[in-house]
Amino acid sequence: MRPYLLLTPGPLTTSDSVKETMMTDWCTWDEDYNLHIVQELRKELLGIATKTPEEYTTVLLQGSGTYCVEAVIGATIGKNNKLLICSNGAYGDRMGNIAEYYHLDYDMLAFEETEQVSVEYVDDYLSNNSDITHVAFVHCETTTGILNPIKELSHVVKMHGKKLIVDCMSSFGGIPLDVHELGIDFLISSSNKCIQGVPGFGFIIARRSELMHCKGVARSLSLDIYDQWETMEKGNGKWRFTSPTHVVRAFKQALTELIAEGGVEARYARYCENHRILVDGMRSLGFKTLLEDAIQSPIITSFLYPKAGFDFKSFYMALKSKGFVIYPGKISKADTFRIGNIGDVYPEDFKRLVETVKETEY
Ligand SMILES: *Cc1c(COP(=O)(O)O)cnc(C)c1O
Repeated sequence: MRPYLLLTPGPLTTSDSVKETMMTDWCTWDEDYNLHIVQELRKELLGIATKTPEEYTTVLLQGSGTYCVEAVIGATIGKNNKLLICSNGAYGDRMGNIAEYYHLDYDMLAFEETEQVSVEYVDDYLSNNSDITHVAFVHCETTTGILNPIKELSHVVKMHGKKLIVDCMSSFGGIPLDVHELGIDFLISSSNKCIQGVPGFGFIIARRSELMHCKGVARSLSLDIYDQWETMEKGNGKWRFTSPTHVVRAFKQALTELIAEGGVEARYARYCENHRILVDGMRSLGFKTLLEDAIQSPIITSFLYPKAGFDFKSFYMALKSKGFVIYPGKISKADTFRIGNIGDVYPEDFKRLVETVKETEY
């Protein structure tokens, strides 16, 4: 079932048991699906998002992660709102792109791709721009693998009394956090990242009271998160429009496996160990990381090309033929490639990868 490991988040490497659950066809209106898969899954997601779930609810939405980011922005930023986007990478920039499509009132605070979003700067900006109502940022910018200071940023946003939207696409389920403690109003993630499911839908952990304000705000029928939520609540797990049944069933299995592993803390420990073995090994071969260790996530790592004239394509093909698929770089200022640490992959896999790189000519 595995010609190679995907070190590309995501899609990423999933377990055979996750893939096997997709061999059954599911009926969207039968309670085997709605009640026992969709509703339980929504509850389990809340349990991962916070120890105190009372004020929160889960919305599931067809599509990839970006559909959910767009759905949240499009349903929260109404005519009288103004969004502040803090970006240090492609996914932050994409939120700006969404705001342009929707002709929203927004400001973009752009930072270097190799620097964290500055807490002081955001604090200062909010002090001087009282018309901002919502703030959005990305937790782990998968563009480089940089980790933004979610605790400090959330604190500042809440101190200023603003609503908070966080793209936790590539961190949720892999890095411990608590939406209630952080004061997050909308957290967004998707099926094919740290929960280790297959691609096909995204989800939003929303503060109920804020979700209620989304009623009638969405400019898109299929991305109307309030309507989607209402149908799911009233229909006991029923999706508006065809639900990605096999993907949802696989995700349910992936959640079971996350809990069996020991929850988010245990998964985080495994990802950190994957990352440590990868970085120590690559450094011993002379490779350098793009980011300083202090701001690097255990999710994905960017490496600088080892020398001028490095041919990424042949390096990629050589590793692929030996069972590892890696990722090209995504930034303009430096030549990099990326290696993901997440998925159903383990420290032994990264030891083998480092050995393989050592034996490869580049
Ligand atoms: C994966 C990812 C997304 C969503 O990308 P899709 O291609 O739409 O799934 C958004 N933000 C971040 C930080 C991501 O890592």
